[in-house]
Amino acid sequence: MESLKKGTLYVVATPIGNLEDITLRALNVLKSVDLIAAEDTRHTLKLLNFYEINKPLISYHRHNEEVKSDLLIKKLIDGEDIALVSDAGTPGICDPGEEVIKKCIIENINIVPIPGACAMINSLICSGLDTKEFYFMGFLPLNKKLRKVKMEEIKESNKTIIFYEAPHKLLKTLEELKGIVKGRKVVLAREITKIHEEFIRGSIEDITDRIGEPKGEYVILIEGNQDLEKENNDVELTLDEEYEKYLLQGLNKKEIIKKIAKNRGVNKNEIYQYFLDK
Ligand code: SAM
Repeated sequence: MESLKKGTLYVVATPIGNLEDITLRALNVLKSVDLIAAEDTRHTLKLLNFYEINKPLISYHRHNEEVKSDLLIKKLIDGEDIALVSDAGTPGICDPGEEVIKKCIIENINIVPIPGACAMINSLICSGLDTKEFYFMGFLPLNKKLRKVKMEEIKESNKTIIFYEAPHKLLKTLEELKGIVKGRKVVLAREITKIHEEFIRGSIEDITDRIGEPKGEYVILIEGNQDLEKENNDVELTLDEEYEKYLLQGLNKKEIIKKIAKNRGVNKNEIYQYFLDK
């Protein structure tokens, strides 16, 4: 007897505001699957109506993830193709998804990503901060002890920090960050892809003074701790080693000399002369 072919789970990114931010492939997948598992079925229905897609929906959210993932697995084993979507952006990024994906792997079910919008990536690419290395923290924990650990990590990290924050907690979090990220560039990416989209850039003090009453959705981005990099360089590396390090990071000669001079607090001509003499 021919064994039944298992279905595929498509993990489909949907818009984070502007309904046009969805790929042709995502629309085709949503049209072709047997079932759409959605974080909030009413919310997803608006998107489906906009694109005149008519498909059965099933709810899959944080509070029923355990039970519903078993149901989805059963349907996938029975040969149904399922699209997993969240309310906005990429499923699994601060949204449900992980649970059913882990179970698919155990059951040897095919999982296909359908890429698209994500607030973290789109805030980063327009932030003006270093995009080569970054640390995405999701939402900061509310628990005091865990939060303190995260604040310490923010203070120490030399990578660009990115995290999500709810508008009603934004001012309090910015206040908390004042003693932690002094002198570093901060960017608030607000309402990305929507009418009131804006990128607010400045020091933590500037930004806190400027924003007024927070409205809409926000991503907070913080420049990596440059002093730390400076300290490490001063202590550990010779000029040649430091030059090599930045070369490997893809910087050109002029950028490297500028960076080394800044790290060491000397005039860039001195550094230039050093390499010229060699
Ligand atoms: N899965 C989503 C993604 O791919 O970005 C994130 C979902 S998470 C529950 C929601 C948080 O993402 C919001 O509180 C906000 O911090 C951020 N976010 C989502 N949409 C945004 C937008 N259009 N502009 C700025 N931040 C947004």
